[in-house]
Order: sequence, then structure tokens, then C-alpha cells
Amino acid sequence: MSKIPCLDLKGQHAQVKKEIFEAFEKVYEKTAFSGGPFVEEFEKAFSQYVGSSYSIGVSNGTIALHLAMLALGIGPGDEVIIPANTFIATAWGVSHAGATPVFVDCDADNWEIDPSKIEKAITAKTKAVIGVHLYGQPFDINAVQELCKKHNLFLIEDAAQAQGARYNGKTVGTFGEMACYSFYPGKNLGACGEAGGLTTNHEKYAKHLQSLRNHGSVVRYYHDEIGYNYRMGGLEGASLSVKLKYLESWNNRRREIATRYQNEIKNTKIKMQSKPTWSDGIYHLFVVTIENKEAFVKHLDENGIVAAYHYPVPCHLQKAYIHLGYKQGDFPNSEYLAAHCISLPMFAELSDEEVNKVIEVINRY
Ligand SMILES: *Cc1c(COP(=O)(O)O)cnc(C)c1O
Repeated sequence: MSKIPCLDLKGQHAQVKKEIFEAFEKVYEKTAFSGGPFVEEFEKAFSQYVGSSYSIGVSNGTIALHLAMLALGIGPGDEVIIPANTFIATAWGVSHAGATPVFVDCDADNWEIDPSKIEKAITAKTKAVIGVHLYGQPFDINAVQELCKKHNLFLIEDAAQAQGARYNGKTVGTFGEMACYSFYPGKNLGACGEAGGLTTNHEKYAKHLQSLRNHGSVVRYYHDEIGYNYRMGGLEGASLSVKLKYLESWNNRRREIATRYQNEIKNTKIKMQSKPTWSDGIYHLFVVTIENKEAFVKHLDENGIVAAYHYPVPCHLQKAYIHLGYKQGDFPNSEYLAAHCISLPMFAELSDEEVNKVIEVINRY
């Protein structure tokens, strides 16, 4: 019997292959490979889905974060507060703009950015906070938003793992100045290729982002500022329009699997991410912690289950940021999570039998 993987995209793609190939055919007929009508069609559908006034497609999620910084005028000498426990790309956006990421710890139980840690990290140089809806669960947006208002900071949502997650019943993506998305193939909404995007309710940011991603140009061959080639491809846009129609049902299936894990995994050695009252997450990942994770992973592996680690090293201890001078012990909750995290199999096409087996094997440990 083959092992149960942590993530397998084959089932999802078998389901949409016909529709996506038909969409690709249309892109071919129009040779609309860079930006163009298929990207615009996706942008329109995605902003409708999120409930934002604008949506801007770009080439990947890291670039979305970089552009967010540029559109907000954040650059050298500025500081941006981000959680220490996130995928490193949250910090790349800040660094690529020439600004400095300032890390803060996460909450010990819900593992999202801890609002009570933010205020101490604010300096005269702080311009923004990037909150990350980590693993697809919204962070405490109201609390972070209040701090941002009080200190006159921008709020950016890193929604790369949270397309369709809801905070107090409202889809994330319009709570801050803008929100950034990754449509990397492994995300809940993933392109056939690399892609990313932003949503915002502010026209001035939308216009600026559209220009920045397109060589700083609104009128072709007239360049108003130094720009970038950060456009989304037409094939990626077309594949995303097809998959967006399925996102709600895929997210719901993930919620169903997560509820089963939460209710039926009874092993007291396992600790799960607590689910705050505001949260209706989309379970991009299902991460648990356990002491001596190597032994647990070996048990899973011997029983045909493949686990993964998200993420084994917190941002502040990455070699790339050694120059910032952080050290072990600075952010105990993030460090604990990094040292003890295991991602269980989580994707919409997991069968009930596979979910049964994951639960049974874990409870037997
Ligand atoms: C995936 C991801 C990104 C980066 O997106 P890419 O499309 O891979 O560049 C940024 N932030 C978070 C939280 C992510 O999970």
C-alpha cells in the first residue's frame, strides 16, 4: 500500500484537468501569455470572492509582499514588524524593499502573531506590521489593527496561506491597507505555475501596484517611475479562474478533515493549534507539536504516513538574518514551535479511510 502523503496535488488536478486544458486552449488562441484578459478575468473573480474593490495579479507571493512595501513607500531606514514564525518570504518582501524586518513572537496557544508583543517592538522607524494568517488561521486582526491605528502604522495581511479564511465571519484580505497572496501550486488556491496577487480597497494603492508590476508604466513605453516586470502569466490566470470555482468546496473539505483531527485525536502527547473564537480558518496546513518529534515521525513513517515540518527554523535564527543580531531565546514560543512542529496529511482529496488511518495511528502512539 502506498503511503499517505502530507500533500498530493494529483487528485485535485485530475478533477480540473479537462476544464483547465480548455482554458489553456483559449489562452493559446489569443496568445495572451503575459497579463491580459485571462489575468483580468481572474482578478475580477478573486476580488469578488474576497470582497475587495481591487485585486492585482503578480508573478508570485514574495513579489506581492515586495510590491506592498513599495506601494506604501516603505524602504531603507524603515522597520516592519512581522512574526518570527512564518515562511521566510514574509521577511523577503521587507528586505527586498531595503527595509528591516523586526520579528516578534507568536502566542503560545494559537501560534499567530502575539499583539501584546508588538508594542514593545515599535520604534520611531516602524512603518508597518505584516500579520500572517499562519497555516490558514486568521491572526487577531482587531487587536493588531488597534495598535496600528494608535501608532499610525500600516497593516498588511500576508494571506498566502489563507485564501477564503474568515475572521469573525468576514473573508480576510480587506482588513489592512492591502493583503498579499501566493498562488504557488501547493497553496489552497494554486496556479499551474508560479503566481501571486494582492487585494485592496484603496484605489491609489491598486493603481500604483498595477504600474509597479508593469515596468512603472500606465501608458505603454512611458515610464513614470522605476518599475518591475512582476506580471502574472495568462496560463496561470486561466488556471486560477477555473480552480477558484472549487476553492470553497476544497476549503470546506479541509475544514471537515481538521474537525475530525481535532475531535478524534485523543493522544495527550499531541498539542494542537488552539482555535480562537474569531477564526474560521482554511487549514492550509495541519500542524501539531510533540516532544521528541523524531520518534513520532518514525512511528508515522513505519505506519505509512508521511509528515513534514513547517517550519523547522524560525526567521530570526535563519543564517540570512544573522546580521540582525537575534539569538536563541529571543522568541521562545516560535522557537518551541520550530523545534516540535509536525504537519499531518492535509489536502481536500484525502479519503475518509486515510483520515481514519491517520487518527488511528496517532492514537496508538
Ligand atoms: C508561500 C508563502 C509566501 C510566498 O509566496 P510564493 O508564491 O512562494 O513566493 C509568503 N508568505 C507566506 C506565509 C507563504 O506561505
